[in-house]
Amino acid sequence: MLSPNMNYSALKESYLFYHIARKTGAYLAEHPEKRLYRMGIGDVSLPLPPAVISALHEAVEDQGRKDRFHGYMPECGAPFLREAIAAHYRKRGVRLSPEEVFVSSGASDELGDLQDLFAPESGALIIEPAYPAYVDACVMAGRKMLRLPSGPENHFLPLPTEGLEADLIYLCSPNNPTGAVFSREQLSRWVDFAASRGAVILFDAAYEAFIEEDLPHSIFEIPGAESCAIEICSLSKTAGFTGTRLGYTVIPKALARRGMNLNAMWVRNRTTKTNGVSYILQKGGAAVFTEEGQRQIRENIGIYKENARMLMAALDRIGLRYWGGRNAPYLWLACPEGMDSWAFFDRLLREIQVVGTPGEGFGACGEGFFRFSTFASPEDTREAAGRLVRLLGKK
Ligand code: PLP
Repeated sequence: MLSPNMNYSALKESYLFYHIARKTGAYLAEHPEKRLYRMGIGDVSLPLPPAVISALHEAVEDQGRKDRFHGYMPECGAPFLREAIAAHYRKRGVRLSPEEVFVSSGASDELGDLQDLFAPESGALIIEPAYPAYVDACVMAGRKMLRLPSGPENHFLPLPTEGLEADLIYLCSPNNPTGAVFSREQLSRWVDFAASRGAVILFDAAYEAFIEEDLPHSIFEIPGAESCAIEICSLSKTAGFTGTRLGYTVIPKALARRGMNLNAMWVRNRTTKTNGVSYILQKGGAAVFTEEGQRQIRENIGIYKENARMLMAALDRIGLRYWGGRNAPYLWLACPEGMDSWAFFDRLLREIQVVGTPGEGFGACGEGFFRFSTFASPEDTREAAGRLVRLLGKK
């Protein structure tokens, strides 16, 4: 009899967002007159920028014209988009060839699919609290995992220590859920560690566009990273592509292990397992990297940043300790009075109808912490911030 991939039986039920939906659903059924202020969402609320919309329209028109129609696209990405992304990196001082950039349908797809490049017996290191997809992708691949807890003592930015075991190292900076961002010095420590062990860093840069201080946007700003890191990027939060789906992954040509070149392996993987991303979406994506597109995405990100400032001001007034917010669309706070994260969730829901995300859902060391996202509308964010101050502010 066929055996399914039994690793799936080891997956923990994805209970975080399910539980949140169940609890908010039950509350609304009991209190149909109430309205919720959803500060837990990881999805954007602003539409795609006009430059992207007009590029998408033009590309749709192309597909109806015999002389401009595109069939299958190159599996690793359209040259015009790979070149636009490489040029974007060059502005930041990172030299890449377009062949080192792979266009993708988003970071989630890549975080799972890239597992194909590594033998299942290579273990993964996951810094917690963590975006849950890292753990689940490793469980599905039957990969053993070492979880490295982080906390206020290291500002949620742990560094490698003597004797740490890891072949595949997941780093997420700016971090979901903590909003913490590694400095150049800290990333250099991870790069040196990976290089010395022959490990590979999977660097999730999905939130790099939210960095406003002088901090690295890309692992490739760190010397030596080109021979020990892969970078996974997304236009989801950068430019509002959550429902449109587009991202990119950088695999340097210098990255090789045991005589195998990982860039060449990924070309082989993509040419077998995909037929490329839609021409229309890639045209829309290329518009993000134009001057006009960059200006428009900065305007949208500015609105989310204003939301972050409203929430940070509220937490400052209350006197709650928090991390993130400045260089990331997430705020990570210590629950008041040592409350556990689900008890705090229930209190906010019942008393002020504000919905956040309990930290426990991001790993055991997230217990006692809570995540707010800054993607809701400014009106809802202002109302939620006011309600938080009225509930928790010093009387
Ligand atoms: N990586 C992190 C850290 C995320 O938070 C998310 C989405 O929330 C993703 C990756 C997935 O992004 P995409 O929409 O490109 O699949």
